[in-house]
Amino acid sequence: MAEPASKNPKLDLSQNKANVMLQKAAEGKYGIAGVCVYNLEGILATVRAATAKRSPAMILLFPWAQSYSSTLLAQAAATAARSAPVPITLHLDHAQSPEAIHIAADTGFYDSIMVDMSHYDKAENLAKTKELVAYCHEKGIVCEAEPGRIQGGEDGVADTADLEAIMTTPEEAREFVDTGIDWLAPAFGNVHGSYGARGIQLEYERLHAVNEAVGKEVRMVLHGTDGFDERIYGKCIEGGITKVNINGVLNKRYLKVQREAGLGVSETIERGTSVMQEAIEECMDMLGSSGRA
Ligand SMILES: [Zn+2]
Repeated sequence: MAEPASKNPKLDLSQNKANVMLQKAAEGKYGIAGVCVYNLEGILATVRAATAKRSPAMILLFPWAQSYSSTLLAQAAATAARSAPVPITLHLDHAQSPEAIHIAADTGFYDSIMVDMSHYDKAENLAKTKELVAYCHEKGIVCEAEPGRIQGGEDGVADTADLEAIMTTPEEAREFVDTGIDWLAPAFGNVHGSYGARGIQLEYERLHAVNEAVGKEVRMVLHGTDGFDERIYGKCIEGGITKVNINGVLNKRYLKVQREAGLGVSETIERGTSVMQEAIEECMDMLGSSGRA
């Protein structure tokens, strides 16, 4: 294989729609909601929230969407994103196998893909990441990776709860940036799913140190935002975060609607869509992306 174009990804992919979006967010010191979506309701809710708030947004699918619907959900999301009146992109989150990444990259629907090889040991993680980033870059797709290990499980993603959480160091961040990635998701006390009794305890100094080391070359991504408020988001954005993944805040509200007795199918779908839209709009306000599109 030829030497990857990822040697200088910023030159090659500077016009990628998702890259442009995060670059503007970095300059304007606000965050972009990466909305974890499992169904058509979530796609519609994201587009409607972004349109209502005049905010850029990202739709995030998991490889689960691929195994459940083949390319149908991705196709619907890409169509919705591309025809929206505000900038919206499509991202594949936590793609944990080379196969899933190849399949997604080959569809042409995704603007960005998270190459998550964090379940491999570090040497293999780095080697696989480098190879897969090169594959995606050749197709004009930007890549995110996770050095360290963000603990916990997310609906539709393999649970890493049995693996010890590893905090990201600036040195490790550098090693990952050298694989050619465009975006980095540091582990600094953030966990997937509920924060439980211990509560939210983030190491902002670590975030700042990582940002200091690599923040000029890559955009920083926040995973594990369950229960976050405007103050916490603000401190993360101050530490260099531009992409903020949100999941429970909207999908829990959707599930609650589904459990309400006596609703018909269409009513459940419509109400589910509007409660998710509300949740996404609240996040856009907290992240400061409202009015930026
Ligand atoms: Zn995540």
